[in-house]
Formats: sequence, structure tokens, C-alpha cells
Amino acid sequence: MIPSYTTSQFREAFISTKTKKQSFDDEVLKTVKNVLEDIRARGDEALKEYTEKFDGYSGDSWEVTKEEREAAWKEVSSDVIESLERAAANIRSFHSKQLQQSRMMEMTEDIISGQLFRPIERAGIYVPGGKACYPSTVLMNAIPASLAGVKEIIMVTPVRGGQSIPPVLSVAADIAGVTTIYKIGGSQAIAALAYGTNSIPSVDKIVGPGNAYVAAAKSLVFGEVGIDMIAGPSEVAIIADESANPVFVAADLIAQAEHDEKARSFLFATSKKLIDETMEEVKTQCEQLPRKSIAEVSLINEGAAVLVDSIDEAFELSNALAPEHLEIQVENALQHLSKVKNAGSVFIGHYTPEAVGDYFAGPNHVLPTVGTARFSSGLSVDDFIKKTTYVYYSEKALRNAAPYVETLATKEELDGHAYAVKVRLEQ
Ligand code: NAD
Repeated sequence: MIPSYTTSQFREAFISTKTKKQSFDDEVLKTVKNVLEDIRARGDEALKEYTEKFDGYSGDSWEVTKEEREAAWKEVSSDVIESLERAAANIRSFHSKQLQQSRMMEMTEDIISGQLFRPIERAGIYVPGGKACYPSTVLMNAIPASLAGVKEIIMVTPVRGGQSIPPVLSVAADIAGVTTIYKIGGSQAIAALAYGTNSIPSVDKIVGPGNAYVAAAKSLVFGEVGIDMIAGPSEVAIIADESANPVFVAADLIAQAEHDEKARSFLFATSKKLIDETMEEVKTQCEQLPRKSIAEVSLINEGAAVLVDSIDEAFELSNALAPEHLEIQVENALQHLSKVKNAGSVFIGHYTPEAVGDYFAGPNHVLPTVGTARFSSGLSVDDFIKKTTYVYYSEKALRNAAPYVETLATKEELDGHAYAVKVRLEQ
């Protein structure tokens, strides 16, 4: 079911094009541009129209009320609440170690310099809700924001039929420290968060995954607000040797493929036997899968199995690909960690499926896709922190620096800069 590729075919098909800028369908872009312009111009009135048109929600108010949030707790089973709380504790523990204090880089009598770390004031968190419900996304996005010290964490998620959002999202929002929830989605929600309306405040940064409409809207509002990244299709690369269990490998390839038809699942294996057995297992396991039709399209159209000469060659391929998720299912897997150069998140050994990281282990599951792990990282506390530098010079320090500053300023023909130094020392 998963097509076989040689290493050079794989490079040609999946790596040589990876530097292409993420492009959006023309129709999607046209729709999104209209929505953005309209909401900027007409605010709540346009937001109401689009929410009715695209999400079928016609209520007069978008905010999930305090009463609705309290009621949600009674509608979610205790095992789900416990799982969310345990996952949240792990995510909080992992991300709290990313926090850094403001720091001085230099402190003498004449010169002081350093960095102030300050949280952004207001963050917008997009939680997708068109086709499925993702409480884990609430935790992964809101907990780092809350730890960073963001005062207002505003979550948006569309209503899927009916008048409210799934109660589990509201409970996850409470656990993660979300301040306000609005029942809006798609590009209209991104526009509202970016520009603000009478009822939705504008935010400083928008984070969180979403479909093509959401991703296109985020890319278009970037600059007026911050965004975390433009998410492409989710992907996993599994490096496996003969010690790997084909049942486990197949399960992880399918877990990736069931996300959506565009998801990409790759196997780089040193053993032909393992590839053959994994392919058989994929067929068997797919039969039982509720999302079989999605997984099969994904595996056939976007999957690849590559027989490599060695584990080192598998790492070369993986580093060139820069996958969102990398699994290392080889003997003594931990010893190979140092070979990873480009990857969003790594899952080491036979008993660390990506699924444990998607939900529970602690590291973030919002990760760079489509090769962007070559230059960027998964969501972290840093996404919600600004680093402001500062410097203090005494008169003596300025006198010492003056010849160099004046020379450089003159070279750049910025005489005003040179004068700003000179005038101080002349007086
Ligand atoms: P979504 O909330 O992203 O999109 C639904 C919204 O899209 C709707 O509310 C609607 O407003 C808008 N929309 C739909 N059709 C439209 C149209 N024809 N014109 C204008 N607007 C339209 O939810 P989704 O569709 O379920 O997509 C979620 C995506 O997020 C999936 O691709 C999923 O795999 C991904 N995801 C990624 C992660 C991660 O961490 N990487 C986590 C969860 C979900």
C-alpha cells in the first residue's frame, strides 16, 4: 500500500521541492482575502455573516459564558478530565524549564547591557474544530502562553452545528488557563483576532494549527500581528532496523496517515524483510481503522518506504527532509540521537510512539512541517516572550567609544549619528 522509493527517487519526490514556499489554492486565497478585508472594514457585522455562512452559527454572542464553562465540567467524563490534567501537568513541567530570567550581559562601572524578557500582552489561540475536536491542541498552545505570563489568552474555535463548542474544549481551556473563549473559526476568526472588532479584542500574536483557510489567513495577517508558523500537512519519518517490530512501525505510519489525506508517512529501513512485513501489517491494521479511507489515500499518495544501506544513510535522508516528527526504532536508539540535525520532535526507541508525544509526554506537538525544521522550532514558551535589549554608557565609556562610532557613522554618511556622539563630548 505504501509505495517503495530508492533514496534518489525519494530525494527527488519529497526533498528537492521542500524549499518551495507553502502555496495556497487560488480559490482559498481569494475567499480569505475577501473575508479579511470585509472584517477589517465592517467588524462584527461581517463576522456575524461569515460565522453564519461557514459555520452555521447564528447566535448573537460569541463568548462562551462563565455559566457555559462551569456546566461543561459536568458533561465531561472523569477519565477524560483526569487524562487532560495529567497531560497538562507533564506539558507544564516540560515547558516551565524553558522559562528564562531577564539578564545582564555586562555590568561595569561605565557600561551596563542586557536583555529584558517580557511576555506579550494578549495571545490568540486557534483551536481547529471544522472536522474534529482537539482538546490536546488547547493544552499545547495555552500552557506555554500561560507559563510565559501572558495576561489574556483568547481562544477561538468554530461551532460545528448546534449552538456551542464541545464541552471538552472548554474544560481543557480551564485547565490550561485560557481567559476567554469565542465561538468563531476559520479565516473570519483570524481576521477578528488580528484587527479586532467591537466585541473581539485584537491580539499581539496568533498561534495554533488549522485548515488551509486558517493557514492562509495567518500568513496574510503576519506583520500586523505575530504568528507562530504556517502549518503544512503533518508528517512522520521512521528510521528502523531489523530490531524494529513491524507491528509497531505499521501502527505509527497509520497513526500519522489517519490525520488527513495529505499527511505524509515515511519509513527509512535497513532491512527489506522489515519493510515487507510492515507493508503486510499496514494492510491488516487499516482494515480495523475507523478512518481507513483517509489513511489509505494518505499512505498511497503521500507515503514512502525506502530501503537504505545503513542507519547513517537513513539519518542523512531524514536530515535532508527535516521531518516534523522523527521516530528512531533501532537497536540502542538513544545512541543515535546525536545524528539528528533537522527535525521538529524526536521519539526514541521501540516504546515511544509519536502518539505519546502528541498528547502526553510534555514536549509540544505544534511543530514545524514541510522541511521548515531546517530553520525553525516547535511551539515553546519563547513564542510568547519578547526579548528587549538595553544598554547604559557613562560619559567615560562614550568618550572611549566615540572615535569608532564616529568613523562608522561617517562611513555610512550618517553625519547626524556622528554629531549625536560628538555634541555630548564637546559640552
Ligand atoms: P478548522 O477549524 O481549521 O477549519 C474549519 C473552518 O474553516 C470553518 O470554521 C470555516 O469557517 C472554515 N471553512 C471551511 N470551509 C470553508 C470554505 N469553503 N470557505 C471559507 N471558509 C471555510 O478545522 P478543520 O477543517 O478540521 O482543520 C483542522 C486542521 O488542523 C487539520 O488539517 C488537522 O490535521 C490540523 N491539526 C493540526 C494539529 C497540529 O498540532 N499540527 C493539531 C490539530 C489539528
